[in-house]
Amino acid sequence: MREGAPAQSTRSLRSLSASELEQLVLECGGKKYRAAQIALWLHRDDVESVDGMVNVPLELRSAISERGWVVEQMTEVGRQESTDGTVKWLYESWDGSKIECVLIPTEERNSICVSTQVGCAMQCAFCRTGRLGFKRNLSAGEILEQFVRTRRWLKERRPGSPALSNVVFMGMGEPMNNLDEVEKAVRWLHDQRSSNLARRHMTVSTSGVVPGIREFARRGIPAQLAVSLNGSNQEMRAELMPVSRRWPLPELLSAVDDYIAETGLEVTFEFVLIRGITCTDSAADELKEIVRNRKCKVNAIALNSSENEKLVSPSQEEIDRFFVRMGSARKFITLRQPRGRDILAACGQLAAQKGKAN
Ligand code: SAH
Ligand code: SF4
Repeated sequence: MREGAPAQSTRSLRSLSASELEQLVLECGGKKYRAAQIALWLHRDDVESVDGMVNVPLELRSAISERGWVVEQMTEVGRQESTDGTVKWLYESWDGSKIECVLIPTEERNSICVSTQVGCAMQCAFCRTGRLGFKRNLSAGEILEQFVRTRRWLKERRPGSPALSNVVFMGMGEPMNNLDEVEKAVRWLHDQRSSNLARRHMTVSTSGVVPGIREFARRGIPAQLAVSLNGSNQEMRAELMPVSRRWPLPELLSAVDDYIAETGLEVTFEFVLIRGITCTDSAADELKEIVRNRKCKVNAIALNSSENEKLVSPSQEEIDRFFVRMGSARKFITLRQPRGRDILAACGQLAAQKGKAN
């Protein structure tokens, strides 16, 4: 193994649920309560290796390691810091897969945008990740490792800065296509014995995978739901997002309405503004209809470089016109400023490397 290479193991302790961890401890001849101790090391104290769990008996630690279980599986292979404080990491996992995660600091809080898959299968026309194709799902351990490593980095490199308190599942990949692992990661982050993140501090974003939205509500996963609308009618959406051919806009909106009715929570729509396509008077009128009478808000963002010359970012004037056209619905829509532009860390720009996702 070359120096600094990730542990070549698929067995990540952070991928285990609390009961699976208990099972492992018993199998290894340990007492049941040791599982809770190990969970604290993994999820609260951000330990880096099995050896670092110093109050766990040596025999138990050895038995766990001998079975191939590791704490971390990824190696940092790149890090870029933006002039605005945003940081983007490139990690390589045990099989050579590369993924990115982004820290977005403000004065009040630190947020992280995590990846859920290596690449993405959804092929949205405007998205760089979509161009990579899909390689594989990330495990809960790999998702959580992005969070834990960022928290450790903050402690060392930006002492005194606010806690890492918000997580958005909006990096590479479609979270609803990897719902089991996303759920495990959310539940650990929410667990009061670990990071104790509130539901309103975690957001899972989907391109519109309707069965996933329904399952997300059914399981009561403690995170907020965001839906990438990016098109105000079926035709426009199907053009930009192939997912909409499978689950057309009326079906998507009906799943969103059921989610709102079942959970009582507000949904966030993300809306990418593209010149002459989604940033037009008629699109604003249609979007107004969608937000009317629905418990929701809209995060609009101007298109970031998409490497697709047919899709162009609108001018400030065009954006202003769109917002004015929203009329009374203006209060439900916010224009998001992309962070970390100089390091390609904004939404839809995460692509790890040119070419395929490997
Ligand atoms: N797959 C999920 C989450 C990851 S994409 C989803 O699609 O929701 C995260 C967000 O980035 C989505 O809202 C997507 O619409 C947005 N996005 C993708 N490419 C973009 C681009 N070129 N400019 C601006 N936003 C983009
Ligand atoms: Fe995948 Fe989301 Fe990009 Fe679409 S916008 S290709 S779903 S990551």
